[in-house]
Amino acid sequence: MRRASPVVGRLAPSPTGLLHLGHARTFLCAFWSARAAGGRVLLRMEDLDAPRVRPGMIDAALRDLAWLGLEWDAAPLVQSHGLPRLQAAVAELVRRGATYPCVCSRAEVRRALSAPQAGEVEPRYPGTCRERFPSLEAAERRAGRAAGLRFRVPDGEVEIRDAFAPPARYDVARDSGDFVVSKRDHTPAYQLAVVVDDAFQGVTEVLRGDDLLPSTARQWHLQRALGLPHPRWIHLPLVVDDAGRRFAKRADDLSLAELRARGVDPRAVVAWAARASGMVVPERVTAAQASAAFALESVPREPVRCDGQTLARLFAARG
Ligand code: GLU
Repeated sequence: MRRASPVVGRLAPSPTGLLHLGHARTFLCAFWSARAAGGRVLLRMEDLDAPRVRPGMIDAALRDLAWLGLEWDAAPLVQSHGLPRLQAAVAELVRRGATYPCVCSRAEVRRALSAPQAGEVEPRYPGTCRERFPSLEAAERRAGRAAGLRFRVPDGEVEIRDAFAPPARYDVARDSGDFVVSKRDHTPAYQLAVVVDDAFQGVTEVLRGDDLLPSTARQWHLQRALGLPHPRWIHLPLVVDDAGRRFAKRADDLSLAELRARGVDPRAVVAWAARASGMVVPERVTAAQASAAFALESVPREPVRCDGQTLARLFAARG
């Protein structure tokens, strides 16, 4: 029998495109880290980003994860099925005065900034609507258009302690400003949903790609505002291609579905991910078999390079 452990890890794919080798590596590590501690693993489909969610991608993700040999210990949580829970958390923030209505569009936020911010996915919000409207309803009436809700970010730095990435200090108010917790279509935003659902599922360990490190500070603030515990964060470097570019769903990088269709043995993919994570495993191994070999201290600090040669070797590993 598995030793009772308080560790609860999670896999949280967004069904916005096919999963690729980068996802495989991160999800396997999330699974191994929890399992190596004798813990449980939960699955959550993050399907709230309506314009980006693509039909059929929830089933595709379930197939890919199962093909990799990943297992989860409860029925998957589909985020859009839990809207009332997320809306209740938004209402709680409103009640505590931690939010304000905002009618600005993305384009307006960008125009309001004096200089473009290179590389910024989301520009810093300058606080245009901060003390402008008494309520969401009043904002919509006065502006004649839909309003979202932004979280009032407290001033000052927070230190994010990570079990893998070096400690880092973030000043969210200075860097990204007040961020959206409920979008203008009245659906909960990613930052809010992740925090509420991690707590709802009892997740104690969040292992994911280090592209989400800057989001972590925002999530830290939301956890504090809602009185929710901070999980143990583990941010791993991403998988990159020959040119050092991160794998991306948008760029149609090599998908797990494609590997599966070409008859590749998933145990070879698992072995690649394990070896890229500093584990000593045979050339073909199942996800469950490899669990015992996982040690966070042995995971390399650099991004994992998945070059042409690696891909050729994977393609040759037929089941
Ligand atoms: N669903 C997010 C993604 O696929 C990950 C969210 C998280 O791990 O917190 O990028």
